[in-house]
Amino acid sequence: MSRFGITSSKIEAKLNRYVDVTQKFGCAPTFPLTAVTLSRHPELIRKLGSRGVEFAVHGYIHTDYRSLSLETQIGHFKKAIDIFRNCQISFTGFRAPYLRRNGETVEALDKLDFAYDSSGTIWWDVVDKSKYPKQAWDDYERLLAFYEPRNAQGYLSLPRIIDGIIEIPVSIPDDEAMVDRLGITDGKEIARIWEMIFRRTYARGELVTLQLHHERISLCESALETILQQAREMDPPVWIATLGEIAEWCKERHGFTFDVNSQGNGQYRVKANCSGRATLLLRNCKVNRPTAEWSGGYQSIDATDFLIESPTRPFVGVGPNSSPYAINFLKSEGFIVEESDQPDNYGIYLANLADFQEADEKLISEAIERSNAPLLRYWRWPDKAKSALAITGDIDSITLMDFVMRVFEVWRQNGR
Ligand SMILES: [Zn+2]
Repeated sequence: MSRFGITSSKIEAKLNRYVDVTQKFGCAPTFPLTAVTLSRHPELIRKLGSRGVEFAVHGYIHTDYRSLSLETQIGHFKKAIDIFRNCQISFTGFRAPYLRRNGETVEALDKLDFAYDSSGTIWWDVVDKSKYPKQAWDDYERLLAFYEPRNAQGYLSLPRIIDGIIEIPVSIPDDEAMVDRLGITDGKEIARIWEMIFRRTYARGELVTLQLHHERISLCESALETILQQAREMDPPVWIATLGEIAEWCKERHGFTFDVNSQGNGQYRVKANCSGRATLLLRNCKVNRPTAEWSGGYQSIDATDFLIESPTRPFVGVGPNSSPYAINFLKSEGFIVEESDQPDNYGIYLANLADFQEADEKLISEAIERSNAPLLRYWRWPDKAKSALAITGDIDSITLMDFVMRVFEVWRQNGR
């Protein structure tokens, strides 16, 4: 409670300090915002919006939506949409309070045409248990159990299109886990932990969505600067984007296709049907247009109409009994996928994809990268970026009154 004041000035200063940092690095954060809080402070939020901040819906009230029915959630989200519209605050996505949702949450969001949901979590094993007292570690583990994250060791940290809505995972540990649970008060240690996550996502070509709440900006400001500074120095670059931009890109990229015609003698005429932002990559084949070294043995090519020469078909070959889920996954990774019973035609051929599950995605993706197969693909990110970074943090309360009201609103909700 000490973080809040009677007026909004204390929190407003922190929010502005946060945006000062992101502006310095030419990017903007996404702040999921509880609708009732917005209704009490529309001017303050509009001012942040004019500084480039993007907003998302963070519940109508700050409650645990995992325990609520579809009808109740639809009712809440409709009320939230009305408040955002009345206050003229634009949004395209959602993040659940406490990062907790159920299947109905996604269904409700889909029905109400939200573009994305960023409530799922992915956990990175980057904290050294031996450095912390048992009590702090137990607190940390309880928080992890509460979030039910995927483990980054076995899963890809990527946005994905599920039933028409784009899911953008949040990387854990966040500021709350580090500061409130593990008791870290050294900004350098926070920077070191986030840096490890950032480095891993860069090496893997994935996304890190950091969660940093404005309440802890004083303690985490230098860590945020460290990560943004590093991200700006990488080559190939890191795409620093808002959640809305990531969702928009996913939709745009989903529409990209290739027309490939075999000309005989291992020659293929390729036409890439994509926007100018697409990152077009090829590997282990010859091409009749200029290319540039990219990363991981890939070359990037700017042309969208070219001729390639390759000893095997530059596609991912899959067995005839492959599940639609598996094929969709490989396509979502930007590959050209061909069902065939002729393994010898491909540099990489995956025979056993009948029971393919999400838990197999990372293994398959790594096996493809490790192979020396000639390949043509769209990369995951726009403008030749290797990985992506989003800065986010929710706004639950702005004044002490909001904080008190938040408790009351949830109590009233649960009492019904
Ligand atoms: Zn929240």
